[in-house]
Amino acid sequence: MSAPEIKGWCPGALRPMMSGDGLVVRIRAPLGRLTSQQAGAIAGLSRQYGNGLIDLSARANLQLRGVAPTDHLALIEGLRAFGLIDNNVEVEARRNITLTPFWQPGDSSHRLATDLAQALARDDAPQLPGKFGFCVDCGDKPTLQSCAADIRFERCKDGAILVRADGAVTAAKVSLDDAVAVAMRLAHWFVDSGGAPNGRGRMRPHLAAGSVPPSELLGTPVQTSTYNPAPQITPIGAMIALEFGQISAETLGQLATLGALRLTPWRMLLIEGNAPVPVLSGLIRNADNPLLRIAACTGAPGCPQALGQTREIARSMALNLPKHGILHVSGCAKGCAHPAPAKMTLTATSTTQFDLIWNGTAADQPAKIGLTLSDLAQPLLSESP
Ligand code: SF4
Repeated sequence: MSAPEIKGWCPGALRPMMSGDGLVVRIRAPLGRLTSQQAGAIAGLSRQYGNGLIDLSARANLQLRGVAPTDHLALIEGLRAFGLIDNNVEVEARRNITLTPFWQPGDSSHRLATDLAQALARDDAPQLPGKFGFCVDCGDKPTLQSCAADIRFERCKDGAILVRADGAVTAAKVSLDDAVAVAMRLAHWFVDSGGAPNGRGRMRPHLAAGSVPPSELLGTPVQTSTYNPAPQITPIGAMIALEFGQISAETLGQLATLGALRLTPWRMLLIEGNAPVPVLSGLIRNADNPLLRIAACTGAPGCPQALGQTREIARSMALNLPKHGILHVSGCAKGCAHPAPAKMTLTATSTTQFDLIWNGTAADQPAKIGLTLSDLAQPLLSESP
């Protein structure tokens, strides 16, 4: 079995990525929010130029799937008409910002995300590697600490902002007005200190290899906090989950009629306002739905690297899932849908066989190999060590 290909960059709208079912076109919605009109337009464009399936990524971006290369330009023009396209591919790639979906207009998170997007669009912005990203998370308690990022903004009880290099246990404590400039200094330091040789690299491994940011970018201890997202009613509106983080154009179009949508990094959408959410195909509205505890990537045939199918198998196992623990079904050892260890991982090794890994990632040493589809019909999780 060949090792999965690591591309080292994320697709954008202007720089899409080819997949097994056509181009993947990723939309980075400003402030992680779509107006009703924008959401409706995306649904229509997905039907017109894509295959009618839209992913919600772990960085709270939408991905239109199944776009033919010959339709890409028309799709971009359609998105541009709704303010969803950056000025150029470099700015799009740098504007890698995950914003807490619970921001309020004018609060610290909103202001920082707005200022940060402007700073990253300037000509003097650091040339960051493709996967380098920012989390802006300045509510009362952080909600994004388990989301991937290289530089994090959080808030102290006294209102000051913490700017932290991912992997560091202390942060720079600064005023709201200074926070973006400090983050830019940290990003420049990352590049200048060799964090991205050959245009690739992340903050955490850079620090783990012994690089230490300047002392003025450290110093204030950071509290760790766990946030468990679930479908629920929030002060912003109803948060609903998408099966496997994917939504059909039809369902997105129906949600768009309810209000503006905020994108989250948890395979969930937050619908602004208090309109009741109808029962719609592919939506999860209850926190006890077992599909919330299953991660499954696109798999075959949508992903060219997939060695087998994923979601149909995952769905068939949902009813036998114990109440605790994540099941991860991966089309190959890359483990895109759940890079962290899971209670149980099934990694496809062919169209009919899977490796079983306990408490590890899709690439870890399997406890069993060559499991067939009929093996997977058994309650395997009861064998958990
Ligand atoms: S983990 Fe899944 S989506 Fe990622 S490369 Fe492998 S098959 Fe494709």
